[in-house]
Amino acid sequence: MLEIAQKVHDETRQGEAFAPFAVDANKYQRYFYIESYGCQMNFSDSEIVASILNEEGFGATRNYEEADLIFLNTCSIREKAELTVRKRLTEFKKLKRSNPSLLVGVLGCMAERLKAKFLEEEKLVDIVVGPDAYRALPQLIEEADGGQKAINVLLSREETYADISPVRLNSNGITAFVSIMRGCNNMCSFCVVPFTRGRERSRNAESILAECRDLYAQGYKEVTLLGQNVDSYYFVPEADGKPVTFALLLELVALIAPDLRVRFSTSHPKDITDDVLATMARYENICRYIHLPLQSGSTRVLGMMNRNYSREWYKAKVDRIREYMPDCGISSDIIAGFCTETEADHQDTLDLMRFARYDMSYMFFYSERPGTLAQRRYPDDVPEPVKKRRLQEIVALQNELSAESNRRDIGKTFKVLIEGNSKRSDEDWMGRNSQNKVIVFPKGAHQLKPGDYVQVQVESSTQATLLGAIVSMG
Ligand code: SAM
Ligand code: SF4
Repeated sequence: MLEIAQKVHDETRQGEAFAPFAVDANKYQRYFYIESYGCQMNFSDSEIVASILNEEGFGATRNYEEADLIFLNTCSIREKAELTVRKRLTEFKKLKRSNPSLLVGVLGCMAERLKAKFLEEEKLVDIVVGPDAYRALPQLIEEADGGQKAINVLLSREETYADISPVRLNSNGITAFVSIMRGCNNMCSFCVVPFTRGRERSRNAESILAECRDLYAQGYKEVTLLGQNVDSYYFVPEADGKPVTFALLLELVALIAPDLRVRFSTSHPKDITDDVLATMARYENICRYIHLPLQSGSTRVLGMMNRNYSREWYKAKVDRIREYMPDCGISSDIIAGFCTETEADHQDTLDLMRFARYDMSYMFFYSERPGTLAQRRYPDDVPEPVKKRRLQEIVALQNELSAESNRRDIGKTFKVLIEGNSKRSDEDWMGRNSQNKVIVFPKGAHQLKPGDYVQVQVESSTQATLLGAIVSMG
């Protein structure tokens, strides 16, 4: 079983391949292999792609050497992600010598920008498909089988894949991701997402609820609602015309069952409302955890990033969250060395991290992306060694903050949802508390199983994990 963290961009999962369908006794004529990079949205999209391909009679394989179709679901968020994918494509191209009918395709965020290069110039791939065109895959595969170059990178204003039920391939059977919206309208100056994934659109609320109910019926105990900016979710059902906001959607999902946990990612500090916080505080099964990316602690840099909040606004938001939920976990994304960032700006970031006492952060150094506002407007003028040193300082501070946060939990008792065996030992369970912290504890003589809730008292901690013991059930 894989221990899958609810992370925005989980380094340990980059390049992960899908497992074959868990109990799939069917024999297929052709098999596909899919490897995913980037954020959780991409991993979720791979599940949609798997569903479309399976409907078309393709089986899934985790061994690319036995595949007839190889797909890389790509990310362009930073230059490094692009380089990794290019290297991988070159490796796959070699396989074509021994298997000429093999088709290799690129999906996702790199599709639009690199289509001509991959297909025509470098002839690395046979198929290129953007994130809104996965329904066209069967037809594109047919075209590529016939020797044509198959490409569809059109972005859509409507596509949400609402009716496609994703195949949960690498799931632990307990926690699942549910996509509630696609695209982004925010135009943060450093970010390619609005260009690669298009305009923001919200998925039909009833289809989200149906997917969550179905997951619960299958034994899942936790759903994470996914979007680039979940707080701007907004859907108006044709039937009654009553708008569904994110706060209402959260409530409706929470009402499915009291023992179905609800999480969400990502919130934008400018958009998360009191309504959302009040709804979270009202329902025990909406987890006390908010991923609230800061990016920079300097108001001047935030302005250049086009984040639409100041340092003071962000601090007030953190205070507001803690007013509603004093025990709420908060995590962040931080970028070191954005254009023109001075030492004083960097100190502002460190200072704000201390103020927010983040439990965890994803930390990056700035990587200029072609076509973004920042690339067009600002010089990427912080030298790489300086970016890296600042990033190191940010990481070192976060390590201290995470360790402190874990130390504060020693002696406390948390309700933990068991996800599976711990990585280190089959004698221990691994689960999470509401604040999204991993807790490892001995199974003892209790007859428990993944999906059960237990009360666990924390006895000690490492930087990343709490260690404890069961004190009671449920
Ligand atoms: N929509 C989310 C948000 O607004 O926080 C996350 C979007 S992005 C997939 C995840 C993170 O990647 C961002 O929060 C940001 O910290 C980082 N990121 C995006 N573009 C970047 C760039 N050009 N260089 C470095 N980090 C970047
Ligand atoms: Fe990118 Fe900003 Fe949209 Fe997040 S909110 S996806 S960082 S543009």
